[in-house]
Amino acid sequence: MAEFDVIILGAGPGGYVSAIRCAQLGLNTAVVEGRDTLGGTCLNVGCIPSKALLNATHHLHEVHENFEKMGLMGGAPTVDWDKMQAYKADVVGGNTKGIEFLFKKNKVTWLKGWGSIPAAGQVKVGDEVHSAKAIVIATGSEPSALPGVTVDEKTVVTSTGALTLPAIPKSMVVIGAGVIGLEMGSVYARLGTQVTVVEYLDAITPGMDAEVAKTFERILKKQGLKFVMGAAVQKVEGGKVSYKLRKNDKEAEIEAEVVLVATGRRPYTAGLGLEALGVEMLPRGQVKIDDHFRTNIPGLYAIGDAVPGPMLAHKAEDEGMAVAEIIAGKHGHVNYGVIPGVIYTTPEVASVGATEEQLKEAGRAYKVGKFPFMGNARAKAVFQAEGFVKLLADAATDRILGAHIIGPGAGDLIHEVCVAMEFGASAQDLALTCHAHPTYSEAVREAALACGDGAIHA
Ligand code: FAD
Repeated sequence: MAEFDVIILGAGPGGYVSAIRCAQLGLNTAVVEGRDTLGGTCLNVGCIPSKALLNATHHLHEVHENFEKMGLMGGAPTVDWDKMQAYKADVVGGNTKGIEFLFKKNKVTWLKGWGSIPAAGQVKVGDEVHSAKAIVIATGSEPSALPGVTVDEKTVVTSTGALTLPAIPKSMVVIGAGVIGLEMGSVYARLGTQVTVVEYLDAITPGMDAEVAKTFERILKKQGLKFVMGAAVQKVEGGKVSYKLRKNDKEAEIEAEVVLVATGRRPYTAGLGLEALGVEMLPRGQVKIDDHFRTNIPGLYAIGDAVPGPMLAHKAEDEGMAVAEIIAGKHGHVNYGVIPGVIYTTPEVASVGATEEQLKEAGRAYKVGKFPFMGNARAKAVFQAEGFVKLLADAATDRILGAHIIGPGAGDLIHEVCVAMEFGASAQDLALTCHAHPTYSEAVREAALACGDGAIHA
């Protein structure tokens, strides 16, 4: 039996980041991970492999759409799917090995195997029981099930199966127009698959700024994705998806070679023994925590996808660092008001803070500064001038309340606004900051100018 200061269950972005910070703060730290590789959902079957495929297929799309316009002539490359898969595996492998290196460098012990918590202060891995002053649950999430749908990861797949299909399918139905469904749908649409997205609600990407969502849907349609909106899926048999339109109860069917079920994820805490331990859970399966990540069991903490909040890698990482600081007797904190969300399609979509819909509902007086990428020379040069930057600021104080961007590099641009929001900046603060020309960032500045006396290039 080994004794540690901290044992973390799960080596996803929450768990591994927390472990490194714990070690940096002088705590003797171990991580239990049942997978063969570190990095969790994000590195193995989530953020990273999906971005590799998005990158490869983005280039293919560029060749087809834009190369000729730039005088780059010649035949388009053919797709070697096995090689693309190997590239993806290489990217994943390099990153998971990188975490192993960081664990060694920081002297974090990897306890290999699936862990459980037989008693407060104890973690069991295989036949070994280890003790720790603090235990952190960072066991993440798994795809949620859809009634009437059996996943076989061959014809009916989750995102995990969609990342490793044996061949590029001719057709695909994606159930759910959320981030994961649209990213994977984009990948296959660019590879020539006929992609139809079936969504229960009347708008894609629920919770997103409505104007951005509308523009995004229009652009995706132009890229060849089809949408069936307001459709409640009844059952899936083989590749046959039966649905009922919510507005008129009309029933219909659609058939495809592969069906991707992308209707969300649920916390994964199976096998930990939380019920026997008496850990309080929330109705949606998350571990209940207070604002210091503490469960109701002394010394037991939880973070990441296993607890409430957006299921995002960087939210898990931030919580991982904060809980480490708290365990080490410092002041860990996460500002949940400034957690960006990004969709890595082309164009990218990014947002932070409040949406206009939320501000309206809260009865808050706000102003909108909007700037189209059409007025941004750099965006026009890369054929991505369709989107816009929308900045929301308090009507009286000019303090930035949110930003919503659809356009080139949106996933990076959003951080300028995140930093501004962390510092309680006004739209004028952004507007008065010199931005290099020609950059996409100028569009953010122009949106800030539009909150005041007006944008220059609109
Ligand atoms: P996870 O990453 O789920 O890690 C938990 C780990 O715990 C797993 O490795 C699991 O094996 C291990 N584990 C579980 N139980 C035990 C046990 N009993 N013993 C030992 N080990 C255990 N988020 C973003 O921010 N950006 C993106 O671009 C993005 N893209 C995504 C794309 C896809 C296809 C998917 C599926 C998800 C994506 N996400 C993205 C979400 C992101 O992956 C998660 O929010 C993030 O991984 C959560 O981190 P975590 O540390 O809480 O848990």
